[in-house]
Amino acid sequence: MRHRISQLVTGVLDLVFAPTCVACRQVISTSDPERIVCAVCWVRSHPLPVPRCERCWSPLRLSPFGGDGSCPLCPSLRPAIRFVRSIYRLDGPPREMVHSLKYRGWHSAARIIGERMASMDLPGEVEREVGMVVPVPLTSARWRQRGYNQAALLATRIAEIRGWSIHDSALSRSRSRTSQTTLHPEERRANVAGAFTAQHGAAERLAGRHILLVDDVWTTGATSLACADALLAAGARAVSVLTFARALPDLERQQRRAELLRVPTSY
Ligand SMILES: [Zn+2]
Ligand SMILES: [Zn+2]
Repeated sequence: MRHRISQLVTGVLDLVFAPTCVACRQVISTSDPERIVCAVCWVRSHPLPVPRCERCWSPLRLSPFGGDGSCPLCPSLRPAIRFVRSIYRLDGPPREMVHSLKYRGWHSAARIIGERMASMDLPGEVEREVGMVVPVPLTSARWRQRGYNQAALLATRIAEIRGWSIHDSALSRSRSRTSQTTLHPEERRANVAGAFTAQHGAAERLAGRHILLVDDVWTTGATSLACADALLAAGARAVSVLTFARALPDLERQQRRAELLRVPTSY
């Protein structure tokens, strides 16, 4: 009887405050356990394409237009940057989820996004060595404006689930320049170079460790790689990067070109 009453109360509350999906804004069914992202949006979320680099998961240079199967990113990565992983391509529902988390104030989405990130299979070396998670920081001005750092929310959830420690004040973003969103890759790298420093006193906790750096999105990698540099400069031994979504501008360009020429891509 009590169960039926609670079902009835839930039903009435759903009618009044129907939870909607953060990605598509459709009402989420009461049978969906998450109540934050609907099942359809998860199905429509695309993982990173294969073939991809084992180390950094960049799509390899293979296409109908040639390519030697090499990784476009690895030659520019320092050896101490061990692995880069992202769950989804930054398009469709994942793009909307990130947008809701960052710009629409839906910080509750961090719980479910963080759970997805925590459940990802990571390389053995990361599983064995990582014990500490560090989020990419915001500038203090952006933090005041948003009220929270989405990367820190994700890192906190991942650390809770994995039983890792979190050092959410390890890095500070010391300069606020132009917003990254309108810049080209080279401009992004120049914009963030040197923008991150390890906080005073962080070195002791970072020393000799393999750190998992967490962010919501990998766009060009400029932000994550600048953070990794700062962690390594402060004494970390190695850094791996985990983001929820990853932009693939080269692949998108390639697919648009293939569409125009009506040539099937190898992805
Ligand atoms: Zn949805
Ligand atoms: Zn690579």
